[in-house]
Formats: sequence, C-alpha cells, structure tokens
Amino acid sequence: MTIWRSSLLDRGLARKVSKDEALKILGDSEKEGLVHMVDNAQGQIKHTCNCCGHYCWNVGIIRRRKVPRDSLMEVYFTRRTEMEECIGCGACEEICPVDAVKMVDEKAEVDLDWCIGCGVCGVSCPTGAIGIERRAGKDDAPKDFEHLHQKIRAERGL
Ligand code: SF4
Ligand code: SF4
Repeated sequence: MTIWRSSLLDRGLARKVSKDEALKILGDSEKEGLVHMVDNAQGQIKHTCNCCGHYCWNVGIIRRRKVPRDSLMEVYFTRRTEMEECIGCGACEEICPVDAVKMVDEKAEVDLDWCIGCGVCGVSCPTGAIGIERRAGKDDAPKDFEHLHQKIRAERGL
C-alpha cells in the first residue's frame, strides 16, 4: 500500500471497501450519470474517480467552457451516433456531463470539440444509437501510469 493511501485510512478520510461494494458504487455512479475516470493509461491503474459535470474540477470546468477541452484533458475517444436509430427522446442531452449535446430537429447533435468520450450518454440511450469511437489521428494512451507521467514530463520539457 502506498504511503498516501495508508495515511488517508489512518486519518479516517477513507475506508476500505470490498470488491462487491466497489462494483456497486460504480453501478450506482453510472445510474447517476457520473463519469468513470481512471488514470489516462491503458493498464496498471492506480486511481479512479466518478466525476460529475457540476462539481468536478476537471469535468465541471469543461462543462462551463472555462478552458478548452484539449488543454485540460487528453481525449482519445468521442461519441458516434447512428442517426437513423435516434428517436429524439433527449435523454442524452439531459445527461451529458459536459453539455455537449443539443437536440436539433428532434435529433441529437453532438459538439465533438467538447465531447469527452465518456460514454455516459450511451447508458441512457433507449435505442442503442450511441457508440464511442477513437478520435482520428490519436495515438494509443500510454501503456501504464509510469509512461503517462513520462509523457507529461516530456510535454513540459522536464
Ligand atoms: S438518447 Fe439516443 S435516442 Fe435519445 S436523443 Fe440521444 S441518441 Fe437519440
Ligand atoms: S460521450 Fe456522450 S455524455 Fe460523454 S461527453 Fe460525449 S456526448 Fe457527452
């Protein structure tokens, strides 16, 4: 266990959960429309969070258009919509945590410059019209936490 994790437990700021409880929390978070976040890497994940568009320092800032998405978040995927399957219910517009969906002529229109590819809208869609696809020209995410930090340091010239 890393020092900071044990410190959080020792100070009563965190508690251990079982795998089943963790999965239940994830399921409840999904129902609430929260964004499952992890380290932006493919494996050896060390941190997870379930973020909302109203309070999260990351997702919320994008929702409020305070900072361009690509300055704040490395987005590897965005939403794809099968328009012929969209029945115009508006559920995805209502739940999108970054307010990237607008209904136009009873069809969901996505602003792909702000979509973070979280997939939250896909859970709410009654027809399965929504998928997630890789952004054109994007490399794969770093393979693990260590490579993620190497990439960040390189981008900052460190
Ligand atoms: S949730 Fe699905 S069916 Fe409803 S508006 Fe969005 S894409 Fe269309
Ligand atoms: S994937 Fe869906 S819910 Fe997530 S940001 Fe894009 S449009 Fe919004």
